Amino acid sequence: MSGTYDVVVAGCGIAGLSAAVSAAEAGARVAVLERATEEERGGNTRWTEAFMRMKSEDEVSDDFEEHFMANSGFHLDPGLVQETMRAPEDWPAIVKALSFTDPELIGTLAAEAGPTLGWLKGYGVTFSAMPSYLITQSTTRISPVGGGQALIDALAAAAERLSVDFFYETTAEALLLGTDGEVCGIRASSHAGRNQRFMGAVILACGGFEGNAEMQARYYGPAARYIRPVARGGYYNRGEGIRMALDIGAAPCGDFSEYHAEPIDPRSGESEAIVFVFPYGILVDQNGRRFIDEASDAVDAIYENISRVINRLPGGIAYVITDAGLDDVPNWQRTVRSSEKPFVADTLDGLAEQIGVPAETLAATVEAFNAATVDGTFRPLEKDGLGTRGLDPAKSNWARPITRGPYRAWPISSANCFTFGGLRCNSSAQVVDQSGRCIDGLYAAGETMGLYYGRYTGATSVLRGAVYGRIAGRHAVEHGAAATRSAT
Ligand SMILES: Cc1cc2nc3c(=O)[nH]c(=O)nc-3n(C[C@H](O)[C@H](O)[C@H](O)COP(=O)(O)OP(=O)(O)OC[C@H]3O[C@@H](n4cnc5c(N)ncnc54)[C@H](O)[C@@H]3O)c2cc1C
Repeated sequence: MSGTYDVVVAGCGIAGLSAAVSAAEAGARVAVLERATEEERGGNTRWTEAFMRMKSEDEVSDDFEEHFMANSGFHLDPGLVQETMRAPEDWPAIVKALSFTDPELIGTLAAEAGPTLGWLKGYGVTFSAMPSYLITQSTTRISPVGGGQALIDALAAAAERLSVDFFYETTAEALLLGTDGEVCGIRASSHAGRNQRFMGAVILACGGFEGNAEMQARYYGPAARYIRPVARGGYYNRGEGIRMALDIGAAPCGDFSEYHAEPIDPRSGESEAIVFVFPYGILVDQNGRRFIDEASDAVDAIYENISRVINRLPGGIAYVITDAGLDDVPNWQRTVRSSEKPFVADTLDGLAEQIGVPAETLAATVEAFNAATVDGTFRPLEKDGLGTRGLDPAKSNWARPITRGPYRAWPISSANCFTFGGLRCNSSAQVVDQSGRCIDGLYAAGETMGLYYGRYTGATSVLRGAVYGRIAGRHAVEHGAAATRSAT
């Protein structure tokens, strides 16, 4: 099962398939190595609705670059940031290898988003503004009809038509180097053995490390024990792509201490079993105490941080408590995807007993919360400013007293949608080493490419995969990285 190609792609999600198709379009012989079976191919992409932060098929959202730049790193040295005003080729090596959100990468992502959607449309993908589980939103989104699965189906079919060779149940494990240290292939394992060699320029598009408990504990600390991938596809992403490149001197990028977190009902085996009703109730920990403002902004702007905070609570668990007023919220059912019913009781004491929270503390928490609510107009589908007074932590919107049964509760834990830490790349998707030089023959795209810090710029990860996968495939062919290579 070994072979010689122009381009070898590890991973078969949106990034890997975009890379494979664009390289094959340019005439390259391409191999795709994929850990999963053909039926389960597609990693995270397979499970997502694939919302894209666009205001139309041609243009990204108005807040696109601004949001990225507001989350480009922590306490960045202004002297180094200033250097990015120069042409990228003139940046000093320490900036080329800097761990931050490179403005060149974001500029290219924004500029190429529209053309990349046009390219996907050429393979039969259609886009529309689909209804979402986010009933309050802070930005604009569109998505492919049929979600991520439609992207996988369309691009895999295109790749097959372009004679790309697929190797399923084949795991990329290490990079092979040529005489000058250039990357010339991948060592992989499969049923055929542990030393399969696929020669060619390499595009790493094999996801992050959300399926690797050891790496998550190493980077996130002990609370990682409470985190699981938000969908089945994440279990396949075990970090080899990132590790094998770091092993040969690639620079890291993206926040290795954070992940895109989603609040899920841990009892449910559904994909993305989200629970997004907390803006209309209160959140309490296992001891029955509130710990955060449940409604500081539209739900899409706050759920990630709330999920991360929940992860660090005792047991990595919280409960959202609502009363009958939840039924005043149109379509609230759309915001819960758990397969499990909520706990329901006519009294708060009965609810406390069911969820194993001390009844007296929960009663005191609700009493203090109710006392801090004020009269005003409840407008559930927009930020209504109906906040508490004199309560710590405050609740900033949709704060109505919790007084009417039936009371409902859902448990919430934090799921890892995808990891932030990955590889430092330039805007041609070439992987950069710790000294700011491109590693000849090595590219990364999708989650394997590190990009995000702090708050995730929502609905941009699929776009990142498509845009940089396509760029990587094209660049590997046009710039000769794909010339047939042999290992030393
Ligand atoms: C439920 C859910 C909802 C989401 N919603 C959105 C959304 O609305 N908008 C958005 O932008 N993002 C969303 N995301 C995130 C987004 O889907 C992913 O970050 C993105 O699709 C990742 O694409 P990728 O190609 O980098 O990785 P993946 O799609 O995960 O593909 C990686 C592939 O590599 C394979 N692989 C892993 N390791 C190896 C190896 N060593 N060798 C060979 N193959 C390997 C995997 O099996 C997998 O097929 C969501 C994710 C999930 C799970």
